[in-house]
Amino acid sequence: VTSLLPAARLDELACLVDERGLRTDADALEQFGRDWTRAHTPAPGAVVLPASIEEVQAIVRWAREHRVAIVPSGGRSGLSAGAVACAGELVLALDRLNTISDFNATDRTVRCGAGVITAQLQAFAEEQGLFYPVDFASSGSSQIGGNIATNAGGIKVIRYGMTRDWVAGLKVVTGAGELLDLNRGLIKNNAGYDLRHLMIGSEGTLGIIVEALITLQAPPGARAVMVLGTPDMAAVMEVLAAFRDRVTLEAFEFFSEEALAKVVEHQGLPRPFETQSAYYALLEFDTPDEEAQAAALACFEHCVEAGWVEDGVLSQSLQQAQALWRLREDISETISRWTPYKNDISTTVSRVPALLAEVEEVVSANYPDFEIIWFGHIGDGNVHLNVLKPEAMAMDEFQRRCGEVSEGVFDAVARHGGSISAEHGVGLLKKPYLRYSRSAAEIALMAQIKRVFDPDGIMNPGKLLDA
Ligand SMILES: Cc1cc2nc3c(=O)[nH]c(=O)nc-3n(C[C@H](O)[C@H](O)[C@H](O)COP(=O)(O)OP(=O)(O)OC[C@H]3O[C@@H](n4cnc5c(N)ncnc54)[C@H](O)[C@@H]3O)c2cc1C
Repeated sequence: VTSLLPAARLDELACLVDERGLRTDADALEQFGRDWTRAHTPAPGAVVLPASIEEVQAIVRWAREHRVAIVPSGGRSGLSAGAVACAGELVLALDRLNTISDFNATDRTVRCGAGVITAQLQAFAEEQGLFYPVDFASSGSSQIGGNIATNAGGIKVIRYGMTRDWVAGLKVVTGAGELLDLNRGLIKNNAGYDLRHLMIGSEGTLGIIVEALITLQAPPGARAVMVLGTPDMAAVMEVLAAFRDRVTLEAFEFFSEEALAKVVEHQGLPRPFETQSAYYALLEFDTPDEEAQAAALACFEHCVEAGWVEDGVLSQSLQQAQALWRLREDISETISRWTPYKNDISTTVSRVPALLAEVEEVVSANYPDFEIIWFGHIGDGNVHLNVLKPEAMAMDEFQRRCGEVSEGVFDAVARHGGSISAEHGVGLLKKPYLRYSRSAAEIALMAQIKRVFDPDGIMNPGKLLDA
């Protein structure tokens, strides 16, 4: 596979798209060559912006013929360097396939081009009196195609599951240039292997997602948000168990005092309450009637008496609920100025306390001079461990040291049967550690599967695995 795109090749490519479809200017190469990670210098050969599925197919066939590496690109909000093009690749950006169509009220499905922005779909659902529940802080820029390619999770997984659960059909152009129309909205379809689910989470290594049929659902009713201060992570898990038994949880998130302090300082937000705790839990739960509210308050009191909660606040209005959510949602953006090294680990909810105790030991023994920010979707067994780069330290040195410590963290993850990438995908950043979560036999099978869908190895080469 070549990454070189000489002028003659670019001329051929220009013939496959319209006048807005090919960019080689420095701005475009810089912008489309990177995602939210900042560890690689963007250096794509060109950026192609097809305006139709037919154009995507033509580009892939051309790339196959000339063995040109393609990096599929969505909103580039990814956190694993999956959409990074740093070796002269052709970036294929889905931005222009951004149409929402064919809403079907009976099936509660809607057709989305891969380039539809997550928030655009959420707003469309709301206009129909329905709800698209996949949500996270990057909803304003991430695309449906990118969400599907990473099987994105987010803040509502505890109630509504991952992106995978909302994909009723998928159109994919494989690395061989074939167009597959997978599942077509069927609820029941046991006619053979479900290739749709193979494509979900494949990080652009098997093909290009060009369109999806997305399921919508009835919106949730009244809800309230609570932020609770807790003395330690073990208490956070006790609070989770207590509330899950008594209310219907829409979300259960957590963050450390260090995370809160940064958000308060840099976003100008007020603290939720005076008391400073080591960790905070943020809960959203249904409040359909007074009984549900009373149950939540009784549970709060129970948690205080048990010593799991030191202080708390309950939202009294939608505005207050939104303000409390910002304490959690603004963390990623706030800490991005320290180019954090992110670990996105998970295990089963029951094993979280033991895993976190071990990870904390590894971290405090190995990162004594680094600032650590904990937050995440702990109700799903998923925590984000962020190491902030000291200003004076060079990026290479920082990455190297973090990489070393990651081995210890991932050892603990493996002992607890967990995942080294709960929701961000593997990309370039987590590729060296895939073996901590997947067996050699599984990785070998994945490489074989890649060769079936991408016989010439042109689809996002070097990401996820070396095949
Ligand atoms: C502030 C912030 C908060 C975030 N919070 C969360 C969170 O809570 N949960 C979560 O899961 N993620 C989260 N993310 C990560 C990211 O937003 C999600 O992974 C998102 O779904 C990526 O979508 P994207 O369109 O930006 O994809 P990109 O970054 O453009 O691409 C991601 C991967 O998918 C591939 N790809 C993109 N589009 C296609 C396509 N059409 N066909 C085939 N492959 C494609 C790319 O090659 C790459 O490998 C967060 C990111 C930020 C910046």
